[in-house]
Amino acid sequence: MKMGMSYFGNRYVECAKAHLKNMKEMGASYVVFTFSENDFFYYERTMQELFDAAHQNGLEVWVDPWAIGGIFGGEAFSKFLLDNPDTWQVRNDGVRVPHACLNSEKFKEFLKKLVNSIAASKADYIFWDEPHWYIPQWDGVKDDSVWACRCEHCQELFKEKYDYDMPTIANDNVVEFKKSSAFSFFKEMSRYTEEKGLKNAVCFLPIENEKDISIPYEKVASLDTIDTIGSDPYWYIFGRNIDDFVKPVTKRMLEIGRKYSKKVQMWFQGYKVPMNREEEMRKAVETMYELGVRNVAVWSYNGAAHMSYLRSEDPQKVNRVLKEIFSEFAKR
Ligand SMILES: [Zn+2]
Repeated sequence: MKMGMSYFGNRYVECAKAHLKNMKEMGASYVVFTFSENDFFYYERTMQELFDAAHQNGLEVWVDPWAIGGIFGGEAFSKFLLDNPDTWQVRNDGVRVPHACLNSEKFKEFLKKLVNSIAASKADYIFWDEPHWYIPQWDGVKDDSVWACRCEHCQELFKEKYDYDMPTIANDNVVEFKKSSAFSFFKEMSRYTEEKGLKNAVCFLPIENEKDISIPYEKVASLDTIDTIGSDPYWYIFGRNIDDFVKPVTKRMLEIGRKYSKKVQMWFQGYKVPMNREEEMRKAVETMYELGVRNVAVWSYNGAAHMSYLRSEDPQKVNRVLKEIFSEFAKR
């Protein structure tokens, strides 16, 4: 079984070398490095040194454009959004929100520069992590009639396509427009990435919400530039369990994977683990394995114990269980 771990929060190459060696010894075959805008602007060469160190330890290198432009998952801020407020998404009530519009040419150009940097480092994969449009609920908005994006550019494109003004109340055309815009975005970005010599992996959010997330999972998965698809049903933070969440999401990904001949990668939660529920991690991996998944990764190395926001209640126990899981499943 292919096993991976995400890695972030440390940019000292000497320390990272010890951690990467440890990962390899635990049974990992790849590492998913987060690559934030901060990394891109201030740690570019360091990141390449980290990727080299991973390769030297026999680990495949996946790179996660972390929270770039506020449209991917990740605990990181965006300089691009500060510098380019004209690219922000606009809600139907006119409020501008700090998430780049997927139709913004300026944003796509920026993302391509980031891809160039990652490609120059000879990484193996770009890992597109939880792409989504603006999600009002995540912003604390209770009014479910709120949506984005209705920026000037989206309005122009909508009118060209449907021959009437983009409405302020979301209808089927709005949802279809958002999905087709997201599809075009991925078509262009994944093609560009492939041309630069990198493989594309996408992690879909474990919830399919037509109006807000508006990423057409199946259509994106069907692109011939996409190598791997998957999802991250983090049951502890969603207040769910393995059977009612991890299982159906995994089945759904396997179904799409089979339909379009894609590899499937599933994530399990190794952060914010509540006390005495650590064994559920093993059950999650076992469930994924039994359903047919052969590529599983944990968020994150060392259970993210270094990051207080993500730390588990008993990080040492989490780490002990993680070690057992990796040594057991990597051999299967
Ligand atoms: Zn827009």
